[in-house]
Amino acid sequence: MIPIRMSHNTELTYRYLDQNRKLYGNKIFLDSQIVNEPIQNIDSLESFNKSICECLKCDLGHTRTNFVFGVGNPNADIVFVGEAPGEKEDLIGEPFVGRAGKLLDKILAAINLSRDDIYICNVIKCRPPQNRDPLPREVELCEPYLKTQLSLIKPKLIVALGRIAACTILRTKEPLKNLRNQIFKYEGIDLLVTYHPAALLRNPNFKKPAWEDFQMIRDQYLVKN
Ligand code: URA
Repeated sequence: MIPIRMSHNTELTYRYLDQNRKLYGNKIFLDSQIVNEPIQNIDSLESFNKSICECLKCDLGHTRTNFVFGVGNPNADIVFVGEAPGEKEDLIGEPFVGRAGKLLDKILAAINLSRDDIYICNVIKCRPPQNRDPLPREVELCEPYLKTQLSLIKPKLIVALGRIAACTILRTKEPLKNLRNQIFKYEGIDLLVTYHPAALLRNPNFKKPAWEDFQMIRDQYLVKN
C-alpha cells in the first residue's frame, strides 16, 4: 500500500472524524448535535478513555501535552472533581499530582482514604493555557465526558473541589462559602462542595472549614464495617 501523506490540518480533521465515528457511529454530526448525544458502546472507564483521549473538540486539544482523563477506583463511592489540569497534570497525564494534589492526598489519608479508594478527575480534561478558567464552550464540550465517567462509576457522592468546579457543574455564580454544607444533586448523585486544595495552600484559614467538610464526608458517606 502506498502511504498517504497528510498535511497537519488534514491529519487533525481525520483524527477528529475518526474519534466521532468511534463515539457516535457512522454519522457525521455537527458539534452542537454531538454535545448532548449519549456516548455509545462504552462499557468501562478504560475503553472510554481510549475512545476520547485524542479529543480535538475544542482548542485545548491542540495545546495540551496529555489528555487527563482521571484516576482511581472504577467502583469508587466518592468521586472528587476539580476544575482542569494544571501544568504538572498536563505533563504527567494524571489529575492532582502537583502541590495541591499532595495536600489532597494528606487530607484523604486523615479520613482513612487513599487514591485507590476514590476516583479523581476534572470537569475539563485538557489544560487551559496559563491555567486560565475554562471557557463556557470548553465546559459544554467536555462535560459530557464527566457525565459518562459518573454513569460508569456510579458513586454515592461527588465532591466538587473549589469554586470553579462547583460553579461550572452547578451552573451558579454563588461564592464557595454559600455552596458548602448543602447536598446538591448532579446526574442524580449527591454533590458536596468544598475548598480546592490549592486555596488551602494559599489561605490557611480555610483549613479548619475544609477539615469539617471532610469529616462530614467521612461520617455520612464512608461505610462503617
Ligand atoms: N487543579 C485542578 O483543579 N485539577 C487538577 O488536576 C490539578 C489542579
